[in-house]
Amino acid sequence: ARLYRIHDWSAGYFDVTEKGDVAVKVAFPSGDVRVSLMDIVAGVNQRDLQMPVLLRIENLLDSQIALLNESFRAAIAQQGYRGIYQGVFPIKVNQQRNVIEEIARFGARYNHGLEAGSKAELIVALSALAGSEGLIVCNGYKDPEFIDLGLRARKLGYRCVFVIETPTELPIILERSHALGIRPLIGVRAKLATTVGGHWNKTSGDRSIFGLSTSQLIEIVDALKEHNLLDCLQLLHCHLGSQIPNIRDIRQAVMEACRYYINLVQEGAPMGFLDLGGGLAVDYLGSKTNNVLSMNYSMDEYCADVVEVIMQSLDAQEVAHPTIVTESGRSTVAYYSLLLFNIFDVTYFEPAPLEQAPAEEEHTLVHSLYSVLERFKPAKIQQSYNNTVFYRDEIRELFKRGQISLRSRALAENLVLEIFRRIVVSLEDADEMPPELEGLREQLADIYYGNLSIFQSLPDAWAIDQVFPVMPIHRLNERPTREAIIADITCDSDGRIDHFIDLHGTRNTLPLHPIKADEDYYLGAFLVGAYQETLGDLHNLFGDTNVVSIRVNEDGSFDVTREIQGDSIADILGYVQYNPKDIFERFRDTAEKAVRRGAISVRERQEILERFSASLRGYTYYETDA
Ligand code: PLP
Repeated sequence: ARLYRIHDWSAGYFDVTEKGDVAVKVAFPSGDVRVSLMDIVAGVNQRDLQMPVLLRIENLLDSQIALLNESFRAAIAQQGYRGIYQGVFPIKVNQQRNVIEEIARFGARYNHGLEAGSKAELIVALSALAGSEGLIVCNGYKDPEFIDLGLRARKLGYRCVFVIETPTELPIILERSHALGIRPLIGVRAKLATTVGGHWNKTSGDRSIFGLSTSQLIEIVDALKEHNLLDCLQLLHCHLGSQIPNIRDIRQAVMEACRYYINLVQEGAPMGFLDLGGGLAVDYLGSKTNNVLSMNYSMDEYCADVVEVIMQSLDAQEVAHPTIVTESGRSTVAYYSLLLFNIFDVTYFEPAPLEQAPAEEEHTLVHSLYSVLERFKPAKIQQSYNNTVFYRDEIRELFKRGQISLRSRALAENLVLEIFRRIVVSLEDADEMPPELEGLREQLADIYYGNLSIFQSLPDAWAIDQVFPVMPIHRLNERPTREAIIADITCDSDGRIDHFIDLHGTRNTLPLHPIKADEDYYLGAFLVGAYQETLGDLHNLFGDTNVVSIRVNEDGSFDVTREIQGDSIADILGYVQYNPKDIFERFRDTAEKAVRRGAISVRERQEILERFSASLRGYTYYETDA
């Protein structure tokens, strides 16, 4: 467990059982309950759902919503803030119906709302928040239809706020609200000058593509005054980017946002809501540091700092405390989902057993490699390495020119592997790695083939080098003796995971156990609930995975609350405009012609067609049973 740092990144939600399985840990009033992920895998297998499976643990989503709201409540009570907190979940972070419905259901006790960035997301919000007191914050570019939808929702009693992102939106809002006779709730998005660290910092600063400059903001205020609608301006919005690692940046941004807020109040707007957007980070590394994959603050600290900065700024100007709104997405849903997958094959980078000495007639360069091996001494590692690489490259050149046989080259490559293996073993305890040899461990790493598509399930790992915690979910009482990278099932050289969480940041190989012939080896990719599901694509036509939601009960049992069958091959073919029926008919014609030629019997034709039809209905991933 220490090797994989599970106790650092799991925020207390995952643990290791005595048996050596990863378990989900859920806190109940009567104490913590642990459920082994291997028991969940067994339950999934019994229900005939194949790997890979996206597992959603509903308790963790509820717990994160409660934590955010309770932390703000505690900070508000402790500091005597005269206002409340009311969060919204940004739908784009995970739009799946089960996720949004669970947020709406559990969040109702806190009036937790939703943020929508498009017409489609607004319709989702209207469906999920029927009858709710939660806010619907509409960001994004809004056409007349978007505005009409929001205005009519307002008439039905929804608390739907239009956040003006660009000056062109105001005339549309004015025109449509006049036409429909409905007064809008308006917010403005300020483009803060404060910039932040991390991957997503382009959302902050003067060149951000979102938000209003100070002069645009003044124009909007003047236009609202002119149209007698300044009383509709109730919310200030800002968002600096996702995954902000440094709490000091957040403090600076809130301070700047407060100045905007105070000025808008002084302009005569009623205001009442200060929306600080997203940015609350997730500690993927578990290092609690100012690093793109980590954060140097806790949830409590975030809430306390936000409340404190707002109070200090507003009290100095005697401005009433607003309702604090945040749009935390990543932190709300990241922990909730994990991808379970099996390893379906392994390439071990190991030398095959070697003869004591080469045959006399063997090529001289092969003899030279043998002597490097014989004379290998830990003190002369660099020399051995240089000679080995030199002889290996010479042999490869000769092979290209047809001057050495495949058999001799195979023997040479095997010798090279053995020498490299000895070098890596002798360097295992060395304080420093000679720079040239740094990549050697990776060159010798095994390739474990995982039954997943990075492009479908972990797109950020491919696109922006996001590191997710990945580890075996069982056999943790056994020492992992292999070092590996994970290749996915796509035929793409980018389809690999070769950055892993390590005590010192990240490392390029993952310690794993040798696979057993009679037992599946299961891994989990954790903290994948945010952004990954709909950003994923159909590379090589691998589709949506099976999805299983569970709820852990206080008595230690768990219920499978929802099952969603992943895409079948026919589904996927439909997405790329093939008609599975046409495809089947074409194949049937080909089979019939084969019958006419006498190549197959009618009975064989039927069997082939039945199998073909089963393939069309089948899962797109690696299936162990034919
Ligand atoms: N609000 C807005 C306007 C966003 O653009 C985003 C995403 O970047 C979020 C909220 C969610 O941010 P996070 O996932 O960091 O909480």
